[in-house]
Amino acid sequence: MRLFESIIDANHRAVAGDASAGLHPAEFADALPVVALTCIDPRLNAFFPNALALPAEEFIWLRNAGNIITSTLSSTLRSLALACAVKGGREIAIIGHSDCQIAKTTTTVLLDKLKALGIDRSRLPDNLNEFFGTFGSERQNIIKACDFVRNSPLIGPKIPVHGLLLDVETGKLDWIVNGYDTLQAQAAPGLPGNVAPPKFGGHLESLGAFKDFAMGEMKFPEMKIGEAAKQIGNKLSQEATQIGAKIEQKIAPTMESVEQVIGQVAQFAEKNWPKPPPIRVPPSPLPPMKKKTPPPPIRPGTDFRRD
Ligand SMILES: [Zn+2]
Repeated sequence: MRLFESIIDANHRAVAGDASAGLHPAEFADALPVVALTCIDPRLNAFFPNALALPAEEFIWLRNAGNIITSTLSSTLRSLALACAVKGGREIAIIGHSDCQIAKTTTTVLLDKLKALGIDRSRLPDNLNEFFGTFGSERQNIIKACDFVRNSPLIGPKIPVHGLLLDVETGKLDWIVNGYDTLQAQAAPGLPGNVAPPKFGGHLESLGAFKDFAMGEMKFPEMKIGEAAKQIGNKLSQEATQIGAKIEQKIAPTMESVEQVIGQVAQFAEKNWPKPPPIRVPPSPLPPMKKKTPPPPIRPGTDFRRD
Protein backbone atom coordinates (compact mmCIF):
# COMPACT_ATOMS: atom_id res chain seq x y z
CA MET A 1 0.00 0.00 0.00
CA ARG A 2 1.12 3.55 -0.69
CA LEU A 3 1.34 6.18 2.03
CA PHE A 4 -2.19 7.60 2.01
CA GLU A 5 -3.74 4.19 1.42
CA SER A 6 -1.94 3.04 4.58
CA ILE A 7 -2.99 6.21 6.42
CA ILE A 8 -6.66 5.69 5.56
CA ASP A 9 -6.43 2.01 6.41
CA ALA A 10 -4.83 2.68 9.82
CA ASN A 11 -7.33 5.48 10.49
CA HIS A 12 -10.33 3.30 9.70
CA ARG A 13 -9.05 0.47 11.86
CA ALA A 14 -8.33 2.85 14.76
CA VAL A 15 -11.78 4.43 14.52
CA ALA A 16 -13.27 0.92 14.52
CA GLY A 17 -11.51 0.26 17.81
CA ASP A 18 -8.35 -1.59 16.71
CA ALA A 19 -5.79 -0.44 19.29
CA SER A 20 -2.93 -1.95 17.26
CA ALA A 21 -3.69 0.05 14.09
CA GLY A 22 -0.77 2.26 13.10
CA LEU A 23 1.87 3.26 10.61
CA HIS A 24 5.65 2.90 10.42
CA PRO A 25 6.67 6.24 8.88
CA ALA A 26 10.14 4.86 8.08
CA GLU A 27 8.53 2.57 5.50
CA PHE A 28 7.25 5.61 3.64
CA ALA A 29 10.34 7.80 3.73
CA ASP A 30 10.05 8.44 -0.03
CA ALA A 31 6.57 9.94 0.41
CA LEU A 32 7.35 12.18 3.40
CA PRO A 33 6.94 14.88 4.49
CA VAL A 34 3.31 15.42 3.62
CA VAL A 35 1.91 18.88 2.85
CA ALA A 36 -1.67 19.29 4.06
CA LEU A 37 -4.16 22.11 3.65
CA THR A 38 -7.00 22.19 6.17
CA CYS A 39 -9.61 24.63 7.37
CA ILE A 40 -8.92 27.06 10.24
CA ASP A 41 -11.63 25.47 12.41
CA PRO A 42 -10.12 25.11 15.92
CA ARG A 43 -11.82 21.73 16.31
CA LEU A 44 -9.18 20.41 13.91
CA ASN A 45 -6.31 21.33 16.25
CA ALA A 46 -6.66 18.07 18.15
CA PHE A 47 -6.78 15.90 15.03
CA PHE A 48 -3.58 16.70 13.20
CA PRO A 49 -1.23 15.10 12.57
CA ASN A 50 -2.36 12.23 14.82
CA ALA A 51 -5.40 11.37 12.68
CA LEU A 52 -2.86 10.62 9.92
CA ALA A 53 -0.58 8.66 12.26
CA LEU A 54 2.34 10.83 11.18
CA PRO A 55 5.04 12.37 13.40
CA ALA A 56 4.76 16.16 13.63
CA GLU A 57 8.04 16.73 11.77
CA GLU A 58 6.68 14.93 8.69
CA PHE A 59 3.54 17.08 8.55
CA ILE A 60 3.67 20.50 6.87
CA TRP A 61 0.40 22.15 7.84
CA LEU A 62 -1.22 24.95 5.84
CA ARG A 63 -4.58 26.37 6.87
CA ASN A 64 -7.08 28.80 5.48
CA ALA A 65 -10.78 29.42 6.05
CA GLY A 66 -12.57 26.54 4.35
CA ASN A 67 -9.40 24.95 2.84
CA ILE A 68 -10.28 26.90 -0.26
CA ILE A 69 -8.14 27.27 -3.36
CA THR A 70 -9.35 29.96 -5.72
CA SER A 71 -7.03 29.46 -8.72
CA THR A 72 -4.02 27.55 -10.02
CA LEU A 73 -1.82 30.47 -9.00
CA SER A 74 -3.50 31.61 -5.79
CA SER A 75 -1.65 32.63 -2.65
CA THR A 76 -2.38 29.28 -1.01
CA LEU A 77 -1.14 27.45 -4.08
CA ARG A 78 2.09 29.42 -3.95
CA SER A 79 2.55 28.27 -0.35
CA LEU A 80 1.88 24.66 -1.37
CA ALA A 81 4.43 25.04 -4.17
CA LEU A 82 7.08 26.44 -1.83
CA ALA A 83 6.29 23.77 0.78
CA CYS A 84 7.21 21.18 -1.86
CA ALA A 85 10.12 23.04 -3.46
CA VAL A 86 11.76 24.46 -0.33
CA LYS A 87 10.60 22.17 2.49
CA GLY A 88 10.67 18.97 0.47
CA GLY A 89 6.97 18.05 0.59
CA ARG A 90 6.38 14.85 -1.43
CA GLU A 91 2.61 14.45 -1.38
CA ILE A 92 -0.18 17.01 -1.01
CA ALA A 93 -3.49 16.47 0.76
CA ILE A 94 -6.46 18.83 0.78
CA ILE A 95 -8.36 17.83 3.92
CA GLY A 96 -11.83 19.22 4.38
CA HIS A 97 -14.02 18.47 7.39
CA SER A 98 -17.62 17.83 8.27
CA ASP A 99 -19.79 20.61 9.70
CA CYS A 100 -17.63 23.34 8.10
CA GLN A 101 -19.09 26.73 8.98
CA ILE A 102 -17.62 28.30 5.86
CA ALA A 103 -19.91 26.03 3.84
CA LYS A 104 -22.88 26.78 6.07
CA THR A 105 -22.62 30.57 5.99
CA THR A 106 -24.81 32.07 3.30
CA THR A 107 -23.91 35.31 1.53
CA THR A 108 -26.66 37.16 3.43
CA VAL A 109 -25.43 35.91 6.79
CA LEU A 110 -21.83 36.72 5.84
CA LEU A 111 -22.84 40.26 4.91
CA ASP A 112 -24.61 40.65 8.26
CA LYS A 113 -21.55 39.40 10.14
CA LEU A 114 -19.26 41.72 8.20
CA LYS A 115 -21.63 44.60 8.84
CA ALA A 116 -21.58 43.81 12.56
CA LEU A 117 -17.79 44.26 12.36
CA GLY A 118 -18.28 47.72 10.87
CA ILE A 119 -17.56 46.68 7.28
CA ASP A 120 -19.89 48.40 4.84
CA ARG A 121 -21.22 46.54 1.80
CA SER A 122 -20.03 49.32 -0.50
CA ARG A 123 -16.41 48.54 0.40
CA LEU A 124 -16.71 44.86 -0.51
CA PRO A 125 -16.35 43.18 -3.91
CA ASP A 126 -19.59 42.71 -5.86
CA ASN A 127 -19.40 38.93 -5.98
CA LEU A 128 -18.61 37.84 -2.43
CA ASN A 129 -18.87 34.11 -3.18
CA GLU A 130 -16.32 34.34 -5.94
CA PHE A 131 -14.07 36.61 -3.93
CA PHE A 132 -13.91 34.43 -0.81
CA GLY A 133 -14.32 31.18 -2.76
CA THR A 134 -17.15 30.16 -0.44
CA PHE A 135 -18.99 26.95 -1.20
CA GLY A 136 -22.06 24.91 -0.35
CA SER A 137 -20.67 21.38 -0.66
CA GLU A 138 -17.51 20.42 1.19
CA ARG A 139 -16.99 17.49 -1.16
CA GLN A 140 -17.21 19.70 -4.24
CA ASN A 141 -14.90 22.21 -2.56
CA ILE A 142 -12.26 19.51 -1.99
CA ILE A 143 -12.56 18.21 -5.57
CA LYS A 144 -12.26 21.73 -6.95
CA ALA A 145 -9.21 22.47 -4.75
CA CYS A 146 -7.51 19.22 -5.84
CA ASP A 147 -8.22 20.10 -9.45
CA PHE A 148 -6.60 23.53 -9.11
CA VAL A 149 -3.54 22.04 -7.41
CA ARG A 150 -3.23 19.18 -9.90
CA ASN A 151 -3.40 21.61 -12.82
CA SER A 152 -1.18 24.28 -11.33
CA PRO A 153 2.04 24.97 -13.23
CA LEU A 154 3.66 25.50 -9.81
CA ILE A 155 3.24 21.87 -8.71
CA GLY A 156 5.47 19.08 -9.97
CA PRO A 157 3.67 16.54 -12.17
CA LYS A 158 4.82 13.59 -10.03
CA ILE A 159 3.43 14.88 -6.73
CA PRO A 160 0.19 13.08 -5.80
CA VAL A 161 -2.62 15.46 -4.83
CA HIS A 162 -5.18 13.84 -2.54
CA GLY A 163 -8.54 15.02 -1.29
CA LEU A 164 -9.82 13.78 2.09
CA LEU A 165 -12.77 14.53 4.31
CA LEU A 166 -12.43 14.36 8.11
CA ASP A 167 -15.41 13.67 10.33
CA VAL A 168 -14.97 16.04 13.29
CA GLU A 169 -17.11 13.81 15.50
CA THR A 170 -15.30 10.52 14.95
CA GLY A 171 -11.93 11.48 13.44
CA LYS A 172 -12.62 9.19 10.47
CA LEU A 173 -10.92 10.11 7.21
CA ASP A 174 -12.53 9.35 3.86
CA TRP A 175 -11.18 9.50 0.36
CA ILE A 176 -12.65 12.18 -1.88
CA VAL A 177 -9.86 12.26 -4.47
CA ASN A 178 -7.26 9.48 -4.72
CA GLY A 179 -4.20 11.36 -5.97
CA TYR A 180 -2.40 8.15 -7.00
CA ASP A 181 -5.23 7.24 -9.36
CA THR A 182 -5.26 10.74 -10.85
CA LEU A 183 -1.52 10.56 -11.51
CA GLN A 184 -1.88 7.16 -13.15
CA ALA A 185 -4.75 8.36 -15.32
CA GLN A 186 -2.81 11.41 -16.42
CA ALA A 187 0.28 9.35 -17.20
CA ALA A 188 -1.62 6.99 -19.50
CA PRO A 189 -4.93 8.55 -20.53
CA GLY A 190 -5.38 6.19 -23.48
CA LEU A 191 -5.18 2.91 -21.59
CA PRO A 192 -8.36 0.96 -20.91
CA GLY A 193 -9.70 1.63 -17.44
CA ASN A 194 -7.95 4.96 -17.18
CA VAL A 195 -9.96 8.10 -17.49
CA ALA A 196 -8.79 11.61 -18.03
CA PRO A 197 -8.72 13.78 -14.89
CA PRO A 198 -11.95 15.67 -14.34
CA LYS A 199 -12.23 19.06 -15.87
CA PHE A 200 -14.15 21.86 -14.29
CA GLY A 201 -14.91 23.91 -17.33
CA GLY A 202 -15.39 27.57 -16.63
CA HIS A 203 -13.81 27.99 -13.26
CA LEU A 204 -10.44 26.46 -14.09
CA GLU A 205 -7.77 28.76 -15.33
CA SER A 206 -6.11 27.34 -18.39
CA LEU A 207 -2.41 26.77 -18.15
CA GLY A 208 -2.05 29.36 -20.86
CA ALA A 209 -2.89 31.96 -18.25
CA PHE A 210 0.53 31.32 -16.74
CA LYS A 211 2.15 33.46 -19.40
CA ASP A 212 0.18 36.41 -18.11
CA PHE A 213 1.12 35.66 -14.53
CA ALA A 214 2.97 38.62 -13.09
CA MET A 215 6.28 37.11 -12.06
CA GLY A 216 6.99 40.39 -10.28
CA GLU A 217 4.69 39.19 -7.54
CA MET A 218 6.97 36.26 -6.84
CA LYS A 219 10.19 38.13 -6.16
CA PHE A 220 12.74 35.99 -4.43
CA PRO A 221 15.57 37.49 -2.40
CA GLU A 222 18.96 37.60 -4.05
CA MET A 223 20.42 34.17 -3.55
CA LYS A 224 24.04 33.12 -3.54
CA ILE A 225 23.16 30.08 -5.58
CA GLY A 226 22.02 32.40 -8.38
CA GLU A 227 25.29 34.31 -8.33
CA ALA A 228 27.27 31.10 -8.34
CA ALA A 229 25.24 29.82 -11.28
CA LYS A 230 25.94 33.07 -13.15
CA GLN A 231 29.66 32.76 -12.53
CA ILE A 232 29.68 29.13 -13.64
CA GLY A 233 27.69 30.16 -16.71
CA ASN A 234 30.24 32.86 -17.60
CA LYS A 235 33.13 30.45 -17.16
CA LEU A 236 31.45 27.79 -19.28
CA SER A 237 30.75 30.39 -21.93
CA GLN A 238 34.41 31.48 -22.00
CA GLU A 239 35.64 27.90 -22.18
CA ALA A 240 33.15 27.12 -24.91
CA THR A 241 34.46 30.05 -26.96
CA GLN A 242 38.05 28.85 -26.50
CA ILE A 243 37.11 25.31 -27.49
CA GLY A 244 35.27 26.66 -30.50
CA ALA A 245 38.46 28.45 -31.60
CA LYS A 246 40.48 25.27 -31.11
CA ILE A 247 37.96 23.30 -33.13
CA GLU A 248 38.25 25.79 -35.98
CA GLN A 249 42.08 25.54 -36.00
CA LYS A 250 41.99 21.77 -35.81
CA ILE A 251 39.52 21.08 -38.57
CA ALA A 252 40.16 23.89 -41.03
CA PRO A 253 43.05 22.24 -42.97
CA THR A 254 41.26 18.95 -43.49
CA MET A 255 37.80 20.24 -44.25
CA GLU A 256 36.42 18.20 -47.12
CA SER A 257 32.74 17.95 -46.58
CA VAL A 258 30.04 19.21 -44.29
CA GLU A 259 29.51 15.70 -42.91
CA GLN A 260 33.17 15.36 -42.01
CA VAL A 261 33.20 18.71 -40.24
CA ILE A 262 30.13 17.88 -38.23
CA GLY A 263 31.60 14.52 -37.22
CA GLN A 264 34.85 16.09 -36.11
CA VAL A 265 33.12 18.84 -34.17
CA ALA A 266 30.94 16.30 -32.38
CA GLN A 267 33.91 14.12 -31.46
CA PHE A 268 36.02 17.04 -30.29
CA ALA A 269 33.19 18.56 -28.30
CA GLU A 270 32.44 15.25 -26.64
CA LYS A 271 36.06 14.96 -25.48
CA ASN A 272 36.70 18.55 -24.51
CA TRP A 273 33.41 20.20 -23.60
CA PRO A 274 33.43 21.33 -19.99
CA LYS A 275 31.42 18.93 -17.89
CA PRO A 276 28.94 20.15 -15.27
CA PRO A 277 29.97 19.50 -11.69
CA PRO A 278 28.76 16.17 -10.28
CA ILE A 279 25.45 16.18 -8.43
CA ARG A 280 26.10 15.71 -4.76
CA VAL A 281 23.60 13.76 -2.76
CA PRO A 282 23.56 14.96 0.85
CA PRO A 283 24.09 12.26 3.43
CA SER A 284 20.97 10.79 4.96
CA PRO A 285 19.79 12.94 7.87
CA LEU A 286 18.53 9.84 9.68
CA PRO A 287 20.46 8.99 12.83
CA PRO A 288 22.06 5.53 12.91
CA MET A 289 19.74 2.83 14.12
CA LYS A 290 20.62 1.79 17.65
CA LYS A 291 18.13 -1.01 17.98
CA LYS A 292 17.52 -3.86 15.63
CA THR A 293 13.82 -3.98 16.41
CA PRO A 294 11.75 -1.34 14.57
CA PRO A 295 9.98 1.27 16.70
CA PRO A 296 6.31 0.70 17.42
CA PRO A 297 3.96 2.13 14.81
CA ILE A 298 2.57 5.60 15.31
CA ARG A 299 -1.09 5.10 16.06
CA PRO A 300 -3.85 7.37 14.91
CA GLY A 301 -5.30 9.34 17.81
CA THR A 302 -7.57 7.02 19.76
CA ASP A 303 -9.54 9.72 21.53
CA PHE A 304 -11.72 10.49 18.51
CA ARG A 305 -14.87 9.37 20.17
CA ARG A 306 -16.63 11.84 22.35
CA ASP A 307 -18.68 9.80 24.74
ZN1 LIG B 1 -14.17 24.61 8.16
